[in-house]
Amino acid sequence: MSGLGKLRVAVIGAGAAGLCAARHLLSRPDTFAPPVVYELTKNIGGTWVYEERVGFYDNGLPIHSSMYRDLRTNIPKEVMSFPDFPFAKHLPSFVHHTEVRKYLEQYCDHFRLWDHIQFGTSVASVTPEDVKGGWNGLAWNVNSNNSVDHSKSTTERFDAVMVCNGHFYDPYIPPIPGLEKFKGTLMHSHDYRTAEPFAGKSVVLLGAGLSGLDIAMELSNVEAQVILSHGQQPLTCPLPPGVQQAPPVTSVLDDGTLEFKNGERTKPEVFLFCTGYNFTFPFLDKKVGVKVQEHLVWPLYKFLIPPAYPSLFIVGICRAICPFPHFHIQSQFMLSVLDGSFRLPSREEMEKDIELDIAARRARGISTRHILKLDSEQWAYNDELARLGGFKPLPCYWSNLYESNKVFRARDMLNYKTYNYSVLDNMEWKVHDLHGQQLQKPLAVKKQIQMNTS
Ligand code: FAD
Repeated sequence: MSGLGKLRVAVIGAGAAGLCAARHLLSRPDTFAPPVVYELTKNIGGTWVYEERVGFYDNGLPIHSSMYRDLRTNIPKEVMSFPDFPFAKHLPSFVHHTEVRKYLEQYCDHFRLWDHIQFGTSVASVTPEDVKGGWNGLAWNVNSNNSVDHSKSTTERFDAVMVCNGHFYDPYIPPIPGLEKFKGTLMHSHDYRTAEPFAGKSVVLLGAGLSGLDIAMELSNVEAQVILSHGQQPLTCPLPPGVQQAPPVTSVLDDGTLEFKNGERTKPEVFLFCTGYNFTFPFLDKKVGVKVQEHLVWPLYKFLIPPAYPSLFIVGICRAICPFPHFHIQSQFMLSVLDGSFRLPSREEMEKDIELDIAARRARGISTRHILKLDSEQWAYNDELARLGGFKPLPCYWSNLYESNKVFRARDMLNYKTYNYSVLDNMEWKVHDLHGQQLQKPLAVKKQIQMNTS
Protein backbone atom coordinates (compact mmCIF):
# COMPACT_ATOMS: atom_id res chain seq x y z
CA MET A 1 0.00 0.00 0.00
CA SER A 2 1.13 3.55 -0.59
CA GLY A 3 1.63 5.85 2.38
CA LEU A 4 -1.97 7.08 2.12
CA GLY A 5 -3.34 3.53 2.24
CA LYS A 6 -4.30 3.58 -1.41
CA LEU A 7 -3.41 0.75 -3.74
CA ARG A 8 -0.69 1.48 -6.28
CA VAL A 9 -1.23 -0.24 -9.60
CA ALA A 10 1.15 -0.52 -12.57
CA VAL A 11 -0.34 -0.87 -16.04
CA ILE A 12 1.91 -2.26 -18.78
CA GLY A 13 0.99 -0.83 -22.19
CA ALA A 14 -1.08 2.15 -23.35
CA GLY A 15 -3.11 0.37 -26.00
CA ALA A 16 -6.88 0.16 -25.69
CA ALA A 17 -6.63 -2.34 -22.79
CA GLY A 18 -4.12 -0.34 -20.75
CA LEU A 19 -6.01 2.92 -21.29
CA CYS A 20 -9.23 1.30 -20.17
CA ALA A 21 -7.58 -0.10 -17.04
CA ALA A 22 -6.15 3.36 -16.24
CA ARG A 23 -9.52 5.04 -16.85
CA HIS A 24 -11.22 2.82 -14.27
CA LEU A 25 -8.41 3.07 -11.72
CA LEU A 26 -8.57 6.87 -11.94
CA SER A 27 -12.31 6.83 -11.39
CA ARG A 28 -11.76 5.43 -7.88
CA PRO A 29 -9.41 7.86 -6.12
CA ASP A 30 -10.83 6.70 -2.77
CA THR A 31 -9.15 3.29 -3.15
CA PHE A 32 -6.50 3.63 -5.84
CA ALA A 33 -3.53 5.95 -6.19
CA PRO A 34 -3.19 7.29 -9.76
CA PRO A 35 -1.81 4.41 -11.86
CA VAL A 36 1.55 4.37 -13.59
CA VAL A 37 1.09 3.35 -17.22
CA TYR A 38 4.28 2.15 -18.89
CA GLU A 39 4.37 2.52 -22.67
CA LEU A 40 7.39 1.59 -24.70
CA THR A 41 6.51 3.69 -27.76
CA LYS A 42 5.88 7.44 -27.90
CA ASN A 43 2.17 6.98 -28.62
CA ILE A 44 -1.00 5.67 -27.11
CA GLY A 45 -3.11 3.24 -29.14
CA GLY A 46 -0.82 0.22 -29.69
CA THR A 47 -2.27 -1.71 -32.63
CA TRP A 48 -4.04 1.42 -33.89
CA VAL A 49 -0.85 3.39 -34.47
CA TYR A 50 -0.17 2.73 -38.16
CA GLU A 51 3.54 2.46 -38.94
CA GLU A 52 4.60 2.46 -42.56
CA ARG A 53 7.94 0.86 -41.78
CA VAL A 54 8.29 -2.82 -41.08
CA GLY A 55 10.96 -4.42 -38.93
CA PHE A 56 12.37 -2.17 -36.23
CA TYR A 57 11.98 1.32 -34.79
CA ASP A 58 15.03 3.62 -34.74
CA ASN A 59 15.76 2.45 -31.19
CA GLY A 60 16.11 -1.16 -32.37
CA LEU A 61 12.85 -2.44 -30.86
CA PRO A 62 10.54 -4.44 -33.14
CA ILE A 63 7.62 -2.56 -34.72
CA HIS A 64 4.56 -3.27 -32.58
CA SER A 65 1.58 -2.48 -34.82
CA SER A 66 0.22 -4.89 -37.42
CA MET A 67 -2.07 -2.27 -38.95
CA TYR A 68 -2.29 -1.89 -42.71
CA ARG A 69 -2.87 1.34 -44.59
CA ASP A 70 -6.42 0.84 -45.80
CA LEU A 71 -7.86 -1.12 -42.89
CA ARG A 72 -11.38 -0.36 -41.82
CA THR A 73 -12.73 -1.98 -38.68
CA ASN A 74 -14.56 -5.29 -38.88
CA ILE A 75 -16.86 -4.47 -35.96
CA PRO A 76 -19.38 -1.62 -36.23
CA LYS A 77 -18.51 1.37 -34.05
CA GLU A 78 -21.84 1.01 -32.21
CA VAL A 79 -20.47 -2.08 -30.41
CA MET A 80 -16.75 -1.68 -30.93
CA SER A 81 -16.55 1.32 -28.58
CA PHE A 82 -16.10 1.33 -24.84
CA PRO A 83 -19.68 1.35 -23.51
CA ASP A 84 -19.12 4.64 -21.63
CA PHE A 85 -17.56 6.49 -24.57
CA PRO A 86 -19.21 6.29 -28.02
CA PHE A 87 -17.45 7.05 -31.30
CA ALA A 88 -18.34 10.42 -32.88
CA LYS A 89 -21.89 10.48 -34.30
CA HIS A 90 -20.90 11.64 -37.80
CA LEU A 91 -18.73 8.56 -38.47
CA PRO A 92 -19.99 5.56 -40.46
CA SER A 93 -20.34 2.25 -38.62
CA PHE A 94 -17.10 0.79 -40.01
CA VAL A 95 -14.37 3.37 -39.56
CA HIS A 96 -10.86 3.71 -40.96
CA HIS A 97 -8.09 2.85 -38.47
CA THR A 98 -7.05 6.51 -38.18
CA GLU A 99 -10.46 7.21 -36.62
CA VAL A 100 -9.89 4.51 -33.99
CA ARG A 101 -6.58 6.10 -33.04
CA LYS A 102 -8.31 9.50 -32.81
CA TYR A 103 -11.05 7.93 -30.73
CA LEU A 104 -8.50 6.51 -28.27
CA GLU A 105 -6.81 9.91 -28.03
CA GLN A 106 -10.19 11.49 -27.27
CA TYR A 107 -10.73 8.82 -24.60
CA CYS A 108 -7.41 9.91 -23.04
CA ASP A 109 -8.50 13.56 -23.18
CA HIS A 110 -11.92 12.87 -21.72
CA PHE A 111 -10.71 10.70 -18.83
CA ARG A 112 -7.52 12.74 -18.33
CA LEU A 113 -5.17 9.83 -18.77
CA TRP A 114 -2.19 11.52 -20.48
CA ASP A 115 -0.36 12.61 -17.34
CA HIS A 116 -0.27 9.07 -16.04
CA ILE A 117 1.51 7.54 -19.03
CA GLN A 118 5.29 7.15 -19.05
CA PHE A 119 6.11 7.14 -22.75
CA GLY A 120 9.30 5.62 -24.15
CA THR A 121 9.49 3.27 -21.19
CA SER A 122 9.81 -0.43 -21.66
CA VAL A 123 9.00 -2.80 -18.82
CA ALA A 124 11.89 -5.25 -18.50
CA SER A 125 10.86 -7.31 -15.49
CA VAL A 126 7.91 -7.84 -13.17
CA THR A 127 8.83 -9.68 -9.99
CA PRO A 128 6.67 -10.59 -7.01
CA GLU A 129 7.94 -10.19 -3.47
CA ASP A 130 6.45 -11.37 -0.20
CA VAL A 131 5.59 -8.27 1.80
CA LYS A 132 3.94 -8.20 5.20
CA GLY A 133 0.84 -6.05 5.04
CA GLY A 134 0.88 -6.03 1.23
CA TRP A 135 -2.24 -6.90 -0.74
CA ASN A 136 -2.57 -10.64 -0.16
CA GLY A 137 0.92 -10.52 1.40
CA LEU A 138 2.51 -9.49 -1.88
CA ALA A 139 4.08 -6.58 -3.73
CA TRP A 140 5.44 -6.28 -7.27
CA ASN A 141 8.74 -4.80 -8.39
CA VAL A 142 8.47 -3.37 -11.88
CA ASN A 143 11.75 -2.66 -13.56
CA SER A 144 11.67 -0.46 -16.65
CA ASN A 145 14.14 1.01 -19.13
CA ASN A 146 14.05 4.15 -21.12
CA SER A 147 13.47 2.65 -24.57
CA VAL A 148 15.71 5.22 -26.29
CA ASP A 149 18.58 5.30 -23.83
CA HIS A 150 18.67 1.70 -22.57
CA SER A 151 21.08 2.58 -19.77
CA LYS A 152 18.43 4.35 -17.69
CA SER A 153 16.72 1.74 -15.57
CA THR A 154 14.25 2.27 -12.70
CA THR A 155 12.46 -0.06 -10.32
CA GLU A 156 9.17 0.84 -8.65
CA ARG A 157 7.06 -1.12 -6.23
CA PHE A 158 3.32 -1.68 -6.69
CA ASP A 159 0.47 -3.51 -4.98
CA ALA A 160 -0.84 -4.89 -8.27
CA VAL A 161 0.09 -5.13 -11.94
CA MET A 162 -2.20 -5.13 -14.97
CA VAL A 163 -0.46 -6.61 -17.99
CA CYS A 164 -1.84 -5.01 -21.18
CA ASN A 165 1.05 -5.56 -23.58
CA GLY A 166 -1.06 -6.64 -26.57
CA HIS A 167 -1.13 -9.94 -28.41
CA PHE A 168 -0.86 -9.10 -32.09
CA TYR A 169 2.79 -8.35 -32.64
CA ASP A 170 4.86 -11.54 -32.45
CA PRO A 171 4.04 -13.41 -35.70
CA TYR A 172 3.15 -17.08 -35.50
CA ILE A 173 4.37 -19.14 -38.45
CA PRO A 174 3.13 -22.74 -38.37
CA PRO A 175 5.74 -25.45 -38.87
CA ILE A 176 5.49 -26.54 -42.52
CA PRO A 177 7.99 -29.17 -43.64
CA GLY A 178 10.41 -27.77 -46.22
CA LEU A 179 9.42 -24.12 -45.66
CA GLU A 180 13.07 -23.03 -45.95
CA LYS A 181 13.00 -24.25 -49.56
CA PHE A 182 10.40 -21.72 -50.66
CA LYS A 183 12.06 -19.46 -53.21
CA GLY A 184 9.62 -16.56 -53.54
CA THR A 185 8.67 -13.83 -51.05
CA LEU A 186 7.76 -15.26 -47.67
CA MET A 187 6.01 -12.91 -45.26
CA HIS A 188 3.56 -12.61 -42.36
CA SER A 189 0.57 -10.27 -42.27
CA HIS A 190 2.32 -8.37 -39.43
CA ASP A 191 4.49 -6.89 -42.22
CA TYR A 192 1.69 -6.32 -44.72
CA ARG A 193 0.98 -2.62 -45.28
CA THR A 194 -0.45 -2.07 -48.79
CA ALA A 195 -1.62 -4.11 -51.76
CA GLU A 196 0.34 -2.29 -54.51
CA PRO A 197 3.56 -4.35 -54.25
CA PHE A 198 1.46 -7.46 -54.99
CA ALA A 199 -0.20 -6.13 -58.16
CA GLY A 200 -0.64 -8.91 -60.73
CA LYS A 201 1.32 -11.42 -58.61
CA SER A 202 0.43 -14.98 -57.68
CA VAL A 203 -0.07 -15.25 -53.92
CA VAL A 204 -0.86 -18.14 -51.63
CA LEU A 205 -2.39 -16.67 -48.53
CA LEU A 206 -2.51 -19.08 -45.60
CA GLY A 207 -5.32 -18.51 -43.06
CA ALA A 208 -8.89 -17.32 -43.56
CA GLY A 209 -9.35 -15.36 -40.34
CA LEU A 210 -10.45 -11.74 -40.43
CA SER A 211 -7.05 -10.44 -41.55
CA GLY A 212 -6.69 -13.18 -44.17
CA LEU A 213 -10.06 -12.35 -45.73
CA ASP A 214 -9.46 -8.63 -45.57
CA ILE A 215 -6.05 -8.89 -47.21
CA ALA A 216 -7.39 -11.29 -49.88
CA MET A 217 -9.90 -8.57 -50.81
CA GLU A 218 -7.21 -5.90 -50.96
CA LEU A 219 -5.04 -8.13 -53.19
CA SER A 220 -7.97 -8.83 -55.47
CA ASN A 221 -8.33 -5.07 -56.04
CA VAL A 222 -4.81 -4.97 -57.53
CA GLU A 223 -5.46 -8.04 -59.68
CA ALA A 224 -3.30 -10.44 -57.77
CA GLN A 225 -4.14 -14.14 -58.28
CA VAL A 226 -4.87 -15.32 -54.77
CA ILE A 227 -5.21 -18.84 -53.42
CA LEU A 228 -6.78 -18.64 -49.99
CA SER A 229 -5.52 -21.76 -48.25
CA HIS A 230 -7.22 -22.73 -45.00
CA GLY A 231 -8.45 -25.61 -42.89
CA GLN A 232 -11.98 -24.38 -42.16
CA GLN A 233 -15.15 -25.43 -43.95
CA PRO A 234 -15.01 -23.90 -47.47
CA LEU A 235 -16.48 -20.37 -47.49
CA THR A 236 -19.84 -20.27 -49.21
CA CYS A 237 -20.20 -16.52 -49.67
CA PRO A 238 -19.13 -14.82 -52.93
CA LEU A 239 -15.36 -14.35 -53.02
CA PRO A 240 -13.56 -11.38 -54.56
CA PRO A 241 -12.50 -11.76 -58.23
CA GLY A 242 -9.26 -13.69 -58.65
CA VAL A 243 -9.54 -15.41 -55.23
CA GLN A 244 -9.91 -19.19 -55.02
CA GLN A 245 -9.94 -21.47 -51.99
CA ALA A 246 -7.66 -24.42 -51.26
CA PRO A 247 -7.01 -26.73 -48.32
CA PRO A 248 -4.02 -26.01 -46.05
CA VAL A 249 -0.47 -26.10 -47.41
CA THR A 250 1.15 -29.25 -46.01
CA SER A 251 4.70 -29.07 -47.38
CA VAL A 252 7.17 -27.24 -49.59
CA LEU A 253 8.93 -29.43 -52.14
CA ASP A 254 12.64 -29.26 -53.03
CA ASP A 255 12.07 -26.87 -55.96
CA GLY A 256 10.00 -24.50 -53.80
CA THR A 257 6.57 -25.75 -54.95
CA LEU A 258 3.79 -25.67 -52.33
CA GLU A 259 1.75 -28.82 -51.86
CA PHE A 260 -1.79 -28.66 -50.47
CA LYS A 261 -3.53 -31.27 -48.33
CA ASN A 262 -5.43 -32.58 -51.39
CA GLY A 263 -2.17 -33.23 -53.25
CA GLU A 264 -2.50 -30.27 -55.62
CA ARG A 265 0.57 -28.09 -56.13
CA THR A 266 1.45 -24.54 -57.05
CA LYS A 267 4.54 -22.33 -57.18
CA PRO A 268 3.44 -18.80 -56.24
CA GLU A 269 5.54 -15.66 -56.19
CA VAL A 270 4.40 -14.83 -52.67
CA PHE A 271 3.56 -17.02 -49.67
CA LEU A 272 1.74 -14.84 -47.15
CA PHE A 273 0.99 -16.09 -43.64
CA CYS A 274 -2.17 -14.76 -42.01
CA THR A 275 -1.76 -17.25 -39.22
CA GLY A 276 -2.01 -15.07 -36.14
CA TYR A 277 0.37 -14.27 -33.32
CA ASN A 278 2.17 -15.74 -30.32
CA PHE A 279 1.48 -14.63 -26.76
CA THR A 280 4.58 -13.31 -25.10
CA PHE A 281 5.27 -11.94 -21.63
CA PRO A 282 9.06 -11.63 -21.68
CA PHE A 283 9.14 -9.45 -18.55
CA LEU A 284 7.20 -11.80 -16.29
CA ASP A 285 9.18 -13.58 -13.57
CA LYS A 286 9.22 -17.34 -14.23
CA LYS A 287 8.19 -18.11 -10.65
CA VAL A 288 4.76 -16.59 -11.33
CA GLY A 289 4.18 -19.77 -13.35
CA VAL A 290 2.09 -18.31 -16.18
CA LYS A 291 2.75 -20.58 -19.15
CA VAL A 292 2.03 -20.28 -22.84
CA GLN A 293 1.37 -23.64 -24.47
CA GLU A 294 -0.14 -24.11 -27.92
CA HIS A 295 -1.70 -20.63 -27.83
CA LEU A 296 -3.17 -21.19 -24.37
CA VAL A 297 -2.08 -18.90 -21.53
CA TRP A 298 -2.63 -20.63 -18.19
CA PRO A 299 -3.38 -21.12 -15.34
CA LEU A 300 -5.59 -18.04 -15.20
CA TYR A 301 -8.79 -17.77 -13.17
CA LYS A 302 -11.47 -16.25 -15.41
CA PHE A 303 -8.76 -15.98 -18.10
CA LEU A 304 -7.25 -13.17 -16.06
CA ILE A 305 -5.70 -14.08 -12.70
CA PRO A 306 -2.92 -16.56 -11.82
CA PRO A 307 -4.28 -18.28 -8.67
CA ALA A 308 -0.92 -18.20 -6.89
CA TYR A 309 -0.47 -14.45 -7.52
CA PRO A 310 -3.93 -12.88 -7.50
CA SER A 311 -2.73 -9.27 -7.67
CA LEU A 312 -1.42 -9.85 -11.18
CA PHE A 313 -3.83 -9.56 -14.10
CA ILE A 314 -3.18 -10.65 -17.68
CA VAL A 315 -5.70 -8.58 -19.61
CA GLY A 316 -7.31 -9.26 -22.97
CA ILE A 317 -5.92 -12.67 -23.90
CA CYS A 318 -9.25 -14.10 -25.04
CA ARG A 319 -9.71 -14.37 -28.78
CA ALA A 320 -12.66 -13.94 -31.14
CA ILE A 321 -14.09 -11.29 -28.84
CA CYS A 322 -15.29 -7.71 -29.04
CA PRO A 323 -12.13 -6.20 -27.52
CA PHE A 324 -12.96 -2.75 -26.13
CA PRO A 325 -16.11 -3.76 -24.19
CA HIS A 326 -14.25 -6.88 -23.04
CA PHE A 327 -11.50 -4.64 -21.59
CA HIS A 328 -14.17 -2.45 -20.00
CA ILE A 329 -15.66 -5.46 -18.21
CA GLN A 330 -12.31 -6.98 -17.22
CA SER A 331 -11.08 -3.62 -15.87
CA GLN A 332 -14.07 -3.24 -13.57
CA PHE A 333 -13.74 -6.84 -12.45
CA MET A 334 -10.05 -6.31 -11.56
CA LEU A 335 -11.05 -3.31 -9.46
CA SER A 336 -13.71 -5.33 -7.68
CA VAL A 337 -11.09 -7.97 -6.83
CA LEU A 338 -8.61 -5.40 -5.56
CA ASP A 339 -11.09 -3.35 -3.54
CA GLY A 340 -12.51 -6.54 -2.02
CA SER A 341 -16.05 -6.12 -3.33
CA PHE A 342 -15.54 -9.48 -5.00
CA ARG A 343 -13.81 -11.93 -2.67
CA LEU A 344 -11.68 -14.28 -4.72
CA PRO A 345 -12.00 -17.99 -3.95
CA SER A 346 -8.97 -19.69 -2.38
CA ARG A 347 -5.99 -20.58 -4.55
CA GLU A 348 -7.03 -24.25 -4.57
CA GLU A 349 -10.60 -23.38 -5.53
CA MET A 350 -9.40 -21.18 -8.39
CA GLU A 351 -7.08 -23.90 -9.63
CA LYS A 352 -9.95 -26.39 -9.54
CA ASP A 353 -12.21 -23.92 -11.39
CA ILE A 354 -9.61 -23.54 -14.17
CA GLU A 355 -9.10 -27.29 -14.41
CA LEU A 356 -12.85 -27.96 -14.68
CA ASP A 357 -13.36 -25.16 -17.19
CA ILE A 358 -10.58 -26.43 -19.46
CA ALA A 359 -11.79 -30.03 -19.12
CA ALA A 360 -15.34 -28.97 -20.05
CA ARG A 361 -14.06 -27.17 -23.15
CA ARG A 362 -11.96 -30.18 -24.16
CA ALA A 363 -15.01 -32.43 -23.66
CA ARG A 364 -16.81 -30.26 -26.21
CA GLY A 365 -14.06 -31.07 -28.70
CA ILE A 366 -12.19 -27.78 -28.32
CA SER A 367 -8.45 -28.25 -28.87
CA THR A 368 -5.89 -26.56 -26.62
CA ARG A 369 -5.07 -23.92 -29.23
CA HIS A 370 -8.72 -22.81 -29.36
CA ILE A 371 -9.51 -22.72 -25.65
CA LEU A 372 -9.09 -18.95 -25.47
CA LYS A 373 -11.45 -18.43 -28.42
CA LEU A 374 -14.59 -17.30 -26.63
CA ASP A 375 -16.64 -16.27 -29.63
CA SER A 376 -20.36 -16.21 -28.71
CA GLU A 377 -19.53 -17.36 -25.18
CA GLN A 378 -17.99 -13.96 -24.52
CA TRP A 379 -21.40 -12.56 -23.54
CA ALA A 380 -21.93 -15.09 -20.78
CA TYR A 381 -18.34 -14.44 -19.65
CA ASN A 382 -18.90 -10.67 -19.56
CA ASP A 383 -22.19 -11.08 -17.70
CA GLU A 384 -20.60 -13.39 -15.17
CA LEU A 385 -17.78 -10.95 -14.40
CA ALA A 386 -20.31 -8.12 -14.04
CA ARG A 387 -22.45 -10.22 -11.70
CA LEU A 388 -19.45 -11.32 -9.57
CA GLY A 389 -18.00 -7.82 -9.47
CA GLY A 390 -21.38 -6.16 -8.83
CA PHE A 391 -21.24 -3.67 -11.69
CA LYS A 392 -23.41 -2.86 -14.70
CA PRO A 393 -23.40 -5.43 -17.53
CA LEU A 394 -23.30 -4.36 -21.18
CA PRO A 395 -26.57 -3.00 -22.62
CA CYS A 396 -28.88 -5.72 -24.01
CA TYR A 397 -28.47 -4.79 -27.70
CA TRP A 398 -24.70 -5.25 -27.60
CA SER A 399 -24.37 -9.02 -28.10
CA ASN A 400 -27.26 -9.00 -30.48
CA LEU A 401 -25.85 -6.38 -32.81
CA TYR A 402 -22.36 -7.86 -32.66
CA GLU A 403 -23.54 -11.38 -33.48
CA SER A 404 -25.67 -10.07 -36.35
CA ASN A 405 -22.64 -8.38 -37.85
CA LYS A 406 -20.93 -11.78 -37.81
CA VAL A 407 -23.83 -13.29 -39.74
CA PHE A 408 -23.81 -10.47 -42.29
CA ARG A 409 -20.03 -10.84 -42.66
CA ALA A 410 -20.32 -14.59 -43.29
CA ARG A 411 -23.03 -13.97 -45.88
CA ASP A 412 -21.38 -11.14 -47.73
CA MET A 413 -17.75 -10.45 -46.90
CA LEU A 414 -17.51 -8.09 -49.87
CA ASN A 415 -20.13 -5.61 -48.68
CA TYR A 416 -20.82 -5.94 -44.95
CA LYS A 417 -18.63 -2.95 -44.13
CA THR A 418 -20.89 -0.67 -46.19
CA TYR A 419 -23.79 -1.25 -43.76
CA ASN A 420 -24.73 1.35 -41.17
CA TYR A 421 -26.24 0.52 -37.81
CA SER A 422 -28.27 2.62 -35.42
CA VAL A 423 -29.11 1.87 -31.84
CA LEU A 424 -32.71 2.70 -30.92
CA ASP A 425 -32.76 1.89 -27.21
CA ASN A 426 -31.27 -0.54 -24.70
CA MET A 427 -32.78 -3.43 -26.64
CA GLU A 428 -33.32 -2.50 -30.24
CA TRP A 429 -31.20 -1.50 -33.20
CA LYS A 430 -31.55 -1.41 -36.96
CA VAL A 431 -29.26 -1.65 -39.95
CA HIS A 432 -29.31 -0.17 -43.46
CA ASP A 433 -27.30 -1.11 -46.51
CA LEU A 434 -25.34 1.28 -48.71
CA HIS A 435 -28.52 2.30 -50.57
CA GLY A 436 -30.43 3.15 -47.39
CA GLN A 437 -32.48 -0.04 -47.55
CA GLN A 438 -33.29 -1.41 -44.08
CA LEU A 439 -32.08 -5.01 -43.74
CA GLN A 440 -33.84 -7.82 -41.93
CA LYS A 441 -32.13 -8.94 -38.77
CA PRO A 442 -30.83 -12.49 -39.00
CA LEU A 443 -33.46 -14.90 -37.65
CA ALA A 444 -31.37 -16.34 -34.84
CA VAL A 445 -30.79 -12.89 -33.47
CA LYS A 446 -34.48 -12.04 -33.62
CA LYS A 447 -35.19 -15.05 -31.44
CA GLN A 448 -32.54 -13.96 -29.00
CA ILE A 449 -34.19 -10.54 -28.70
CA GLN A 450 -37.52 -12.17 -27.95
CA MET A 451 -35.89 -14.32 -25.29
CA ASN A 452 -34.27 -11.29 -23.69
CA THR A 453 -37.50 -9.32 -23.57
CA SER A 454 -39.66 -12.13 -22.23
P1 FAD B 1 -2.15 -3.21 -28.20
O1 FAD B 1 -3.02 -2.30 -28.95
O2 FAD B 1 -1.22 -4.08 -28.93
O3 FAD B 1 -1.35 -2.34 -27.12
C1 FAD B 1 -0.33 -2.87 -26.32
C2 FAD B 1 0.60 -1.74 -25.91
O4 FAD B 1 1.55 -2.25 -24.98
C3 FAD B 1 1.40 -1.15 -27.08
O5 FAD B 1 1.23 0.24 -27.11
C4 FAD B 1 2.84 -1.56 -26.78
O6 FAD B 1 3.78 -0.63 -27.24
C5 FAD B 1 2.84 -1.68 -25.26
N1 FAD B 1 3.85 -2.58 -24.72
C6 FAD B 1 4.09 -3.86 -25.10
N2 FAD B 1 5.10 -4.38 -24.36
C7 FAD B 1 5.49 -3.42 -23.50
C8 FAD B 1 6.51 -3.34 -22.49
N3 FAD B 1 7.31 -4.37 -22.22
N4 FAD B 1 6.65 -2.18 -21.80
C9 FAD B 1 5.82 -1.12 -22.05
N5 FAD B 1 4.87 -1.13 -23.01
C10 FAD B 1 4.70 -2.27 -23.72
N6 FAD B 1 -10.32 -4.84 -32.74
C11 FAD B 1 -11.53 -4.27 -32.90
O7 FAD B 1 -12.24 -4.01 -31.92
N7 FAD B 1 -12.00 -3.95 -34.16
C12 FAD B 1 -11.26 -4.17 -35.26
O8 FAD B 1 -11.73 -3.89 -36.36
C13 FAD B 1 -9.96 -4.75 -35.12
N8 FAD B 1 -9.17 -4.92 -36.19
C14 FAD B 1 -7.89 -5.37 -36.02
C15 FAD B 1 -7.05 -5.47 -37.12
C16 FAD B 1 -5.74 -5.90 -36.96
C17 FAD B 1 -4.84 -5.98 -38.16
C18 FAD B 1 -5.26 -6.25 -35.68
C19 FAD B 1 -3.83 -6.70 -35.48
C20 FAD B 1 -6.09 -6.17 -34.57
C21 FAD B 1 -7.41 -5.73 -34.73
N9 FAD B 1 -8.27 -5.60 -33.64
C22 FAD B 1 -9.53 -5.07 -33.81
C23 FAD B 1 -7.85 -6.05 -32.32
C24 FAD B 1 -7.05 -4.98 -31.56
O9 FAD B 1 -5.80 -5.50 -31.37
C25 FAD B 1 -7.74 -4.63 -30.27
O10 FAD B 1 -8.89 -3.89 -30.61
C26 FAD B 1 -6.96 -3.76 -29.29
O11 FAD B 1 -6.47 -2.64 -29.95
C27 FAD B 1 -5.91 -4.49 -28.52
O12 FAD B 1 -5.47 -3.62 -27.53
P2 FAD B 1 -4.35 -4.00 -26.47
O13 FAD B 1 -4.23 -2.83 -25.57
O14 FAD B 1 -4.64 -5.32 -25.89
O15 FAD B 1 -3.02 -4.21 -27.31
